[in-house]
Amino acid sequence: MTSPDRPSRRILIIGGVAGGASCAARARRLDEHAEITIFERGPHVSFANCGLPYHVGGVIPEASSLLLASPDTFRDKFGIDVQIRTEVTAIDREAQTLTTRHTESGETRTWPYDALVIATGAKPLMPPLPGLDLPGVFTVRTVPDTARIRAWIDERGAKRAVVVGGGFIGLEIAENLHHRALEVTVLERADQVMPPLDPEMAGRIEDHLVGNGIEVRTGAALKGIEATGGGLRVQTEGGDIDADLVILGMGVRPESTLAREAGLALGPHGGIHVNGRMQTSDAHIYAVGDVVEDTCAVTGQPMYLPLAGPANRQGRLAADAILGRPGRFRGVQGTSVCGLMGLTAASTGLAEKALRPQYGERLGVVWLHPGQHVGYYPGAKTIHLKLVYDQADGRVLGAQAVGADGVEKRIDVIAMAMQMGATVFDLEEAELCYAPQFGAAKDPVNVAGMIAANRLRGDLPMASWAAWQRAGTGVLVDVREPNEYAAGHVEGAINVPLSQIRGRLDELPQGETLWLYCKSGKRSYDAARMLTQRGFDVHTLSGGIMSYPR
Ligand code: FAD
Repeated sequence: MTSPDRPSRRILIIGGVAGGASCAARARRLDEHAEITIFERGPHVSFANCGLPYHVGGVIPEASSLLLASPDTFRDKFGIDVQIRTEVTAIDREAQTLTTRHTESGETRTWPYDALVIATGAKPLMPPLPGLDLPGVFTVRTVPDTARIRAWIDERGAKRAVVVGGGFIGLEIAENLHHRALEVTVLERADQVMPPLDPEMAGRIEDHLVGNGIEVRTGAALKGIEATGGGLRVQTEGGDIDADLVILGMGVRPESTLAREAGLALGPHGGIHVNGRMQTSDAHIYAVGDVVEDTCAVTGQPMYLPLAGPANRQGRLAADAILGRPGRFRGVQGTSVCGLMGLTAASTGLAEKALRPQYGERLGVVWLHPGQHVGYYPGAKTIHLKLVYDQADGRVLGAQAVGADGVEKRIDVIAMAMQMGATVFDLEEAELCYAPQFGAAKDPVNVAGMIAANRLRGDLPMASWAAWQRAGTGVLVDVREPNEYAAGHVEGAINVPLSQIRGRLDELPQGETLWLYCKSGKRSYDAARMLTQRGFDVHTLSGGIMSYPR
């Protein structure tokens, strides 16, 4: 690979999956003459971690579908040397070398580098509890892990599984085990599943899982696992559960041991500290993917976000930096999506609970429940959408959505808008696709922006149910139709429907705060506009009864 007119650059990459593989491929495209070597501890490179739960469930029947490229592909198509089953055991920064050990033969070797990329990913969190190493207790990180789980289920005719951890990987595994007709219990130590989401959004996911036959125990910390005669007993603070297998999905932390031992600077989450060029505290060493400490684009604070998108983009950027191209990583904002038994949950930016301590009353929050497309077109389904923004300047700080359809499209639009520094006024004005089967002339993203912008312009005196509960005074007014009120209403609410309100103003006390609600917030907004112009002190309750705390 050496060029006749200049010496080749030796680029060594530790870790051959998302970040490492994309770095290697990009480096080759930029420099035909570089000597590029990937070291991978496992038997595969470039495999689809994100597809692993679906192979456990049989949705992806063949493991081979998860292998996106082989060492031969890298050699033949890119001229990249891939050393599989080869663990990097040490980095000598002074000598600019690293040491490897073959995991089968035990052979050790030393390799010199001009630029080194650490893409070692993450490792599962394993608290020091008894029994986590028992046969039948698994983590899901690699293709061989899925083979072991599938074999355990098939060979033992497993019927009951416990999944420890209610984050997105745990829940995806739970769905897939349920798909294989196992009885599944999810244990989550926090009071909600999907901890990055706000509780009322996560509650919708929990209800959906329970409604589809998965048992969910929140606030239930694992104490340990013991072997029984025929299986396993999972001990929790809320009682024991018998199971045939246990999957641990309690989160991950950066696989940064090599970096720490080499004296590279780490961040507060234990990830490798990098600059916008993915360069570590050593100018010859770069780091990408789950092993790095990111910076949150919303708060400017360190953030750990082990997701495939950032890993791939960072891998590409590290190659650019090594080979003299411009470009900086913008930071992360937590954009993610999870599909669970026909429900989609997606979010970007930060949740209300994460922002409230910093922003206090400055934080604006909007809940809305539009259809994914116009109601008159068959198949309309509700999206539960929450937007958080800075009331000082309207900057969008985060959004979460849960629903059956059209969820990730709205979150992706808001995610991109946030990257461009958008305010709620930008969402209000965004020009988006519309035809009846896809959306509405006022898309849910527009409507979220309009509600927040109305609030900021002083046109919509809006409050949350929590604010109403805290206030404890005033009159709660249900402005829905009498039949809706009769079918169920918030205790203590009087019913003055929007359609009759102009003729029944004398029933509404002047001088007291009126808290208006309807089904989703639209009719109470109309009532509020009318009443404020007639001198009433009014708040509408954002999201209406559909956002009433469960
Ligand atoms: P990895 O892909 O983990 O690769 C790191 C590699 O480095 C490993 O193969 C490891 O063997 C190797 N390695 C480590 N140490 C050494 C060493 N000393 N020597 C040699 N090799 C070493 N993200 C999403 O965005 N969406 C999803 O839907 C999604 N689903 C997921 C589902 C599962 C089950 C899992 C496990 C992850 C999922 N992720 C998802 C996360 C995503 O896969 C990771 O963020 C991404 O793979 C990180 O890429 P990486 O290159 O940093 O690390």
